[in-house]
Amino acid sequence: MQTDDGLLARLRPVGGVISPHQLRAVADLAERFGNGQIEVTARGNLQVRGLRADVVAEFAQGIEAVVAIESGLVIETSPLAGLDGHEIADPRPLAEAIRLAVADGALEAALGPKVTVVVDGGGCIGRDELAADIRLTAVGSADAPMWALEVGGQGTGLLRAEDAAGAVWAALSLIAGLGPLGRGRDLDGRALYQALAPILVAGAPQHPPARLTQDRIALADGRAGAAVGLAFGAANAATLSALANAAQAVGIAEFHLAPQHQLIAICATEADAARFAQAAGTLGFITTSADPRGAVSACIGSEGCASGTIAARRVAETLTRAEPEFFDGSFALHVSGCAKGCAHPGPALLTLVGNEDGVDLVVDGSAKGAPALRMASDAVPLAMERLATLWRDERKLGESVASCFKRLGAASIAATVQQGRQ
Ligand code: SF4
Repeated sequence: MQTDDGLLARLRPVGGVISPHQLRAVADLAERFGNGQIEVTARGNLQVRGLRADVVAEFAQGIEAVVAIESGLVIETSPLAGLDGHEIADPRPLAEAIRLAVADGALEAALGPKVTVVVDGGGCIGRDELAADIRLTAVGSADAPMWALEVGGQGTGLLRAEDAAGAVWAALSLIAGLGPLGRGRDLDGRALYQALAPILVAGAPQHPPARLTQDRIALADGRAGAAVGLAFGAANAATLSALANAAQAVGIAEFHLAPQHQLIAICATEADAARFAQAAGTLGFITTSADPRGAVSACIGSEGCASGTIAARRVAETLTRAEPEFFDGSFALHVSGCAKGCAHPGPALLTLVGNEDGVDLVVDGSAKGAPALRMASDAVPLAMERLATLWRDERKLGESVASCFKRLGAASIAATVQQGRQ
């Protein structure tokens, strides 16, 4: 894929699993053929950036030699599918049944490349962040699980386990009938209901599964998962290789790629998970959900992209270090090298966008949104200080940044950033 910093390769290792040895090999290839930056995306894919057109074939051969890459219809499960003791059902057999049903025939070729199916076993980590065309979520009890079906974000009904793959095949066939740009949200609800009516089961509305936000996860087989995040979604090749070495030093054989720019290391014991997390923290990875960098998205900006006007990750690092208390987990900050907003295409409570004249502040919008304020690049740290002071002064007892700023509104926030507290 062409981007403003060269070609980008998005890699989905089979099952979302990669060994430390493979991770080091990908890092080496990124260093050799790209700009040395490796990203784990918000969806949990690997990305290598800055590739030149004349080395792409050699890069692809190198990748093929070290790690098997998934192709075809995107079917996402939890990164801990089958290992998560909180799951109502292991989603992997159903995901495989869907994969086989779709691959056998012309259906897969007729679907657009963005069509996504999520099969969620109802465990502690979901794929709630994905706007799935089709979503199956396990509900009920582990003894007799059912699957709640959503198509295009709309609840459609409950399915018995034996009918679930067939229902997905039928819904995908309808989506394919809309043409290569067809998505689940475009389907006619009546046509969908008619196709599925014979197998839908009446049932009460289901509550979404309870998710856990923790950094170390007890697994069903007695092992432990240690989640480490890449600050601003990226790491350089040397740092990622060092992480792979640290994993091997404690006997870790697998990383599971996870949403929100994370790798979950599968450790033999809780003590190994603690040792690995400590080593990862020393290397600069995020090892606790309290780390303010976890709430911030930033692209490489001017340090590696032709369109970048500010060193977005450097700016983000400076801001999170200066005002850690301000990043209370209630809101997202996006620092973007330009209005394209690659690191966080959707809206964020606060977005800083570099441009030729300075930096724009967008409140509750995306990098393409209308700015509430324009400032000089070197005024950004003072602006962040003023935002933090505004929250400290104006918050009600226990009020989060998000709630406080929504109450104050964009105009009041912009005025404070411009003039300071009067
Ligand atoms: S948002 Fe960042 S990575 Fe994307 S084009 Fe702009 S500067 Fe480059």
